[in-house]
Amino acid sequence: MSRVADLLFPPVCAGCGELTKIENFFGGKPDALCADCRRAWDEAKKEICGICRRPVATCNCLTEEMERARFSAFCKLVYYVPKNRDHVQNRAIYRIKDHADAPITDFLARELCEPIRAALRERKTAAGTPDARGDVFLVYLPRSRRAALEKGTDQARELAKALSEQLGLPLLPVIARRFGHGKAQKTLSPVERRRNANAAFRFRACADVKGKCALVVDDIVTGGASMSAAAKLLRRAGVRELIAVAVASDESNRMPPVGQPTLRTEFDRLGRTH
Ligand SMILES: [Zn+2]
Ligand SMILES: [Zn+2]
Repeated sequence: MSRVADLLFPPVCAGCGELTKIENFFGGKPDALCADCRRAWDEAKKEICGICRRPVATCNCLTEEMERARFSAFCKLVYYVPKNRDHVQNRAIYRIKDHADAPITDFLARELCEPIRAALRERKTAAGTPDARGDVFLVYLPRSRRAALEKGTDQARELAKALSEQLGLPLLPVIARRFGHGKAQKTLSPVERRRNANAAFRFRACADVKGKCALVVDDIVTGGASMSAAAKLLRRAGVRELIAVAVASDESNRMPPVGQPTLRTEFDRLGRTH
C-alpha cells in the first residue's frame, strides 16, 4: 500500500522539495531528505551547545523556563533561527506545520528516538540509583483549534503519535487547549508568553498519570513558556518527572542567559566538576 502511495505521491525531500531518488523507492523506505539536505541536517545536529559544549542532538540542557519548571532534561535535534527559512531544519519544521506529512513526521520521530532513549537511561531515583520504573508516557502540547483546522494537522500530536509507535510508549493526551487562546507564542514578549501559555492549556483527566514520568512533546521550543505551563498542570496531577522533547530549540537557548552563568548543565547533573 505504501508503495502505491509513493507512486501516486512521489516522496519529496523535506529540505528542498526535490524528488528523492528513485532507488530509495526500490530499496525500501524513501528518505525524507535528499543527500545534500541530509548532509546539512547532520551538520545542524552537530552544532555545539554553549552551555554543555556537546552537540545539540546529544545535549539535554534546559531553557530558563524549563529550569524553573523542574524538567530533568530537554531532548532536541537542532537549533532553529526563525528568520533563516532556507535552513533545512526550518524547512522540515515548516513542512510538518503546514501540512500533514507522515514520512517527514516519521523521520523526525526516528531521529528523536535516540536522544530520548539516552535521557531515559540517565534517569536516577532520589537515592541516585538508575530508575528502571516502566511508567513513562508521552503527552503533546496541542495546537490551537483554529490553526489545526486551517493547516489540517497538529504537528505536535502527529510527532507524539509517531514517537509512541516507535518507542512503544503510551500516548496520553492529558493536556488540552482552551478555546480562544490561539495567539502564536512567537508574536509575544516573554511575560506575555508566560501569561498566554498558562491560560492556553488545561488538564484533561482522561488517564491516571500519578507517579509517572512524562515526555512532553512539541515541535519547537522558543523560551519554554508552553512547556512550563504544561509542567505545572502535570505536576498538579501527580506526574513525578518531566522530560521535554522537541525537534528544535530556538537559537537563543544555545547560550546561558545573561547574568545567569550558573544555569544547571549536563555536567552538574552528572556530578562532574570541570
Ligand atoms: Zn533536499
Ligand atoms: Zn547543552
